[in-house]
Amino acid sequence: MITLGSKITALAGIGPKKGEMFEKLGIHTVGDLLRRFPRAYQNRGDIRTLAEAGMTPEPCAMLLTVATRPVSTQLPNRKVLTKFQVFDDTGKCDVVFFNQNYIKDAFSLGATYRFWGRLTFQRGRWSLSSPQFEPYDSVRRLPDYVPVYPIGAGISQKMMRSTVGIALASLDAVEEILPEEVRERHSLLSLREALYTLHSPRNPEALEGARRYFIFEELFLFALSLAEGRREKTAVKGYPITVSDGIVARFFKALPFTMTEAQLAACREIRDDLASGYAMHRLVSGDVGSGKTVIAAFAAYLAVSGGYQAAMMAPTEILARQHYADLAPTFTAFGMKTALLIGALKPSEKRMLHEQLKNGEIDFVIGTHALLSEGVGFRRPALVITDEQHRFGIRQRQALSEKTAGETALHTLVMSATPIPRTLALALYGDMAVSSVNMMPPGRQKVSTFLCDESYRARLNGFIRKQALEKRQVYIVCPAIEEIDEDEDEKGASLVGLDGKVIEKLPIRYAVDYAEELSRCLPDVTVGCLHGRMSSKEKDAVMSRFESGEISVLVATTVIEVGVNIPNATLMVIENADRFGLSQLHQLRGRVGRGRYKSWCILMSSTENEESLRRLRALCSTSDGFEIAEFDLQQRGPGDFLTGADATRQSGEVRFRIASQCEDTALFTAAFTEAAALLNTNPTLCDHEALVEALSDFRRQQHGTTT
Ligand code: ADP
Ligand code: MG
Repeated sequence: MITLGSKITALAGIGPKKGEMFEKLGIHTVGDLLRRFPRAYQNRGDIRTLAEAGMTPEPCAMLLTVATRPVSTQLPNRKVLTKFQVFDDTGKCDVVFFNQNYIKDAFSLGATYRFWGRLTFQRGRWSLSSPQFEPYDSVRRLPDYVPVYPIGAGISQKMMRSTVGIALASLDAVEEILPEEVRERHSLLSLREALYTLHSPRNPEALEGARRYFIFEELFLFALSLAEGRREKTAVKGYPITVSDGIVARFFKALPFTMTEAQLAACREIRDDLASGYAMHRLVSGDVGSGKTVIAAFAAYLAVSGGYQAAMMAPTEILARQHYADLAPTFTAFGMKTALLIGALKPSEKRMLHEQLKNGEIDFVIGTHALLSEGVGFRRPALVITDEQHRFGIRQRQALSEKTAGETALHTLVMSATPIPRTLALALYGDMAVSSVNMMPPGRQKVSTFLCDESYRARLNGFIRKQALEKRQVYIVCPAIEEIDEDEDEKGASLVGLDGKVIEKLPIRYAVDYAEELSRCLPDVTVGCLHGRMSSKEKDAVMSRFESGEISVLVATTVIEVGVNIPNATLMVIENADRFGLSQLHQLRGRVGRGRYKSWCILMSSTENEESLRRLRALCSTSDGFEIAEFDLQQRGPGDFLTGADATRQSGEVRFRIASQCEDTALFTAAFTEAAALLNTNPTLCDHEALVEALSDFRRQQHGTTT
């Protein structure tokens, strides 16, 4: 009997050798295989005539009839060429295959086949080289949508498709994960139906049903895992930390600026929380640049003054390093020992830090998720601060608390720079008190924002150069690192995405390639490049050259999104801006305008999609993060607030397979409401075995790390 839990090798035709290849892709069971979401679908129902295909530079589908018997010949280079002619009402062409002698027998004279391939014109003849093909039968329709899978490890698209086909055909029973009432209330497919549809959708509407199921399922699991961590969080004892007015005043006096009213209010709230005897559970939410770091520093200062240790966790090494550089001098001046704990340290350095944390020598440690690694322990911890938690590394926060908490719970402070619309905040941060830093420090200037297309390119290059020559600095953000060879199957004139929409193909800029191009274009300007595939050492090196001003123009992926502070940077250029969420664009824009110089943000986009243009124009006309977040929620739905940037993946935060594609706010809130209701009536989830198992799978998926 084949179930989702069966080993992949239980399938007919999958022996140990193929099994091993699948293992390399992380596919151990039939369930793993069937939960491999297609990247796209070829719409082979979109048949082009030969005349049309000749005008289409990309692969497409054609219905062609065999006109001549296939003939194989040996070429001088020892390749075997198999060739024959096919035709339709608009013309004829050659079909050629190389080194596939056996293919002769797959075609019958006079029969019609559905081909998928690229029609090219060579030496005066049209030809189709190594196309994909299926016998066409006017009675039994071929499926229109053929999935294109993410592949690798020697597994071809064809093998993937046929193995999925075998799995679907031999699947006996499917244990449902979602409770039936929940599915009924929200008109969701069963898991079984959703899986079948995912891999062979009849049409885009059916696909949408499957996608809705999987989005809901993932959100539901996410909501359950959040709720579990939250249980009994309210009114838990915390270390009482009372600090005298004199000591508090000393901190404010040491600052080079006066705090805003909003900052002061947040500080007061934190001071009260810490003194209350209960564990603090507070979110500081404020727009980019509103000055949250100093609030975090104040909290740490209070904890250390009270005789405890504090830890602050940042999502990237760049940011951790920057916080350390900013805060360490102040703390040192107060006689408090501060340390930086990041993955890039030498093992001997790490061991020493671990030791000093354990024996209490270090008062305040700033770091990345290296803080969560084994061997990290504290002597008298009281406070955990998580910075830039705009994408919910809730699991990490918990892990750190579990690590350090004894009887008494730790105080937790979370800093978030993405204003989150009310509807979502309640679901995601429902258990936290919120301090809103809704005020900018005085003298901040508005970043002038413009939307431009390619016709502006030459002037843009001139502008970049001008900034650099004036000793200002420039960020250029690209949506991807470098061009990778696409699978031939991922190209096509009629490729649709998982959302059933035709995939819009605009050329995109790649950070690595574009950095090279710019260096050539602007020989008198120093251009650097930064992306998530570099080692943290390399990243740090580039970042410190940018900080020191040695690099004028930094071409990067969204690794720079989170919190980086270079006041001398005055220009932010975002390539293919239509590919980013608005809140993310707003974050990126917040990297400039941090000093005393006039700053600009240029959104480059060639999109003609009205909706995309509307979103981008909205960003040009407002700098209010909350307004932008609301607009983003309306236009793109809640998925964007879950994940997206490669900074997120890097920091090992919550990773979603599909929920980040959620466009439907009602579905989003429904998943959270249903999860809460279920836990309310059935806190141990008894009689929901499949659900419990799926939940632990979900957690495992979260614990995996990528670099
Ligand atoms: P974010 O809220 O985005 O984390 P930061 O804490 O990085 O913002 O602050 C941005 C910049 O503003 C820093 O250079 C910081 O020193 C400065 N800053 C913070 N608060 C004030 C203030 N009250 N007055 C002037 N400058 C401030
Ligand atoms: Mg910050």
